[in-house]
Amino acid sequence: MKINANEISALIKEQIKSYRHKVDSNDVGTVISVGDGIANVYGLEKAMLGELLLFPNQVYGMVMNLESDSVGVVLLGNDQLVKEGDIVSRTKEVMEVPVGENMLGRVVNSLGQPIDGLGEIKTTRTRPIEVIAPGVIKRKSVDTPLETGITMIDAMTPIGRGQRELIIGDRQTGKTAIAIDAIINQKDKNVICIYVAIGQKNSTVAQIVDKLKKFKAMDYTIVVSASASEPAPLLYIAPYAGCAMAEEFMYQGKDVLIVYDDLSKHAVSYRALSLLLKRAPGREAYPGDVFYLHSRLLERACKLAPEFGGGSITALPIVETQSGDISAYIPTNVISITDGQIFLQSDLFNAGQRPAIDSGLSVSRVGGDAQFKATKQVARSLKIELASYLEMKSFSQFGSDLDASTLAILKHGEALMAVLKQKQYDVYQLDKQVFDLFVAKNNFLDDLKKEEVRPTLNRAYEVFKATHQDVLDNINKNKEISPEDESALRKEMQEFFESLNS
Ligand code: ATP
Ligand code: MG
Repeated sequence: MKINANEISALIKEQIKSYRHKVDSNDVGTVISVGDGIANVYGLEKAMLGELLLFPNQVYGMVMNLESDSVGVVLLGNDQLVKEGDIVSRTKEVMEVPVGENMLGRVVNSLGQPIDGLGEIKTTRTRPIEVIAPGVIKRKSVDTPLETGITMIDAMTPIGRGQRELIIGDRQTGKTAIAIDAIINQKDKNVICIYVAIGQKNSTVAQIVDKLKKFKAMDYTIVVSASASEPAPLLYIAPYAGCAMAEEFMYQGKDVLIVYDDLSKHAVSYRALSLLLKRAPGREAYPGDVFYLHSRLLERACKLAPEFGGGSITALPIVETQSGDISAYIPTNVISITDGQIFLQSDLFNAGQRPAIDSGLSVSRVGGDAQFKATKQVARSLKIELASYLEMKSFSQFGSDLDASTLAILKHGEALMAVLKQKQYDVYQLDKQVFDLFVAKNNFLDDLKKEEVRPTLNRAYEVFKATHQDVLDNINKNKEISPEDESALRKEMQEFFESLNS
């Protein structure tokens, strides 16, 4: 049989075609360079952004940069195990973390693996760490309060389930304390909590977990920790991983509270990654898409409409400022993404006014719709009263003889400030908050010395509780103060405070 050259070449071409079909060269690549947790991989033409790649020694990496003939990959494991020339293969999957009920009570890393020494977590489901946030049609406006147990927040900057409220302030001003108190207060309130620690010391996280255990709050909480000693990629993915765990519960129709502590460190880790990936630095050396970093995360917090299960994710991101400067890059970004902020001041904190919330600069843009009627009834004028007190206070520092009305404003303001002081881990339920604010609002406390306000108020509460438990129960149950309950409260308090003076 004679075969001519043309036929041979056609045959070879055909073979090569089917060979190419079998081993897709687009699915493997080679490492060109590696260092600082970043690998540059040649080939992998079809790799997707965010896709997981498998390196030798079971090290995984995530695609972050797509360039014309190589991809930039962040390594999610030890970069010492990866060498130049290593073969890398695609997994064709995006990064996912384990989710579900069994994660509750556990401390995990950004990959969802346990780090609390309590053994394996048996989960059957995983969720991608990055998903598109629910659209407008799927959402509903907030209508249920998320009680933090901190009077000042619940009264003045109320948070609704599905809201995003920023906690912002300098270092050591009680930011974490507020978030932890809010978690502790969710006991018996059907809210699942997720605390994401980003770039904190392991010892700090261990202390927080201890406290949560002590208050039996770990039963309904997952702690996700990417500590300061871990590589930047793990810090970068931690909040998205926590959010994926939260979404699992939200889509089951449950309410979730998630704390990101804190997003400043998250932005810094992303900046480190971006600079290593040779992306162009912008303002404060952050890459241009640093806004998108946080907007796509916080957009995933929402309240779903009833036909989509009615679940919610409430997000409390934390941002650290440098000497109170809320107009720096990351603070302004996150302020504009969230539905309000709780601003903590070191001056107030150092003066002993704790929680050190600045009543003027703190706002909640949507939570008012969700606030309980009872709280509204006693807190309506609180912000104005505090503002006029603070204004008078700065004026009166210079004058000695003050007229009666100025003195009254000052005394009332001081009493209010004392009522709003609250110890850490000492969360108040609705009836107690309403009781305190009712007594303060009706000027019963104005003549007391500052340090006597809290003990007297607690005593008044105990006395009232002993005889009028039903009134307090009504407030807790109906979430409002009925006219009868109000007159009972007023009468009892008049008697109580008169007996103090006699
Ligand atoms: P960092 O910037 O280090 O993260 P932070 O702003 O998160 O600090 P916290 O760690 O919450 O601040 O609090 C700082 C200190 O103040 C802690 O020792 C804490 O116990 C104390 N503290 C916080 N809130 C209160 C409070 N309401 N009453 C008394 N002490 C408080
Ligand atoms: Mg903190």
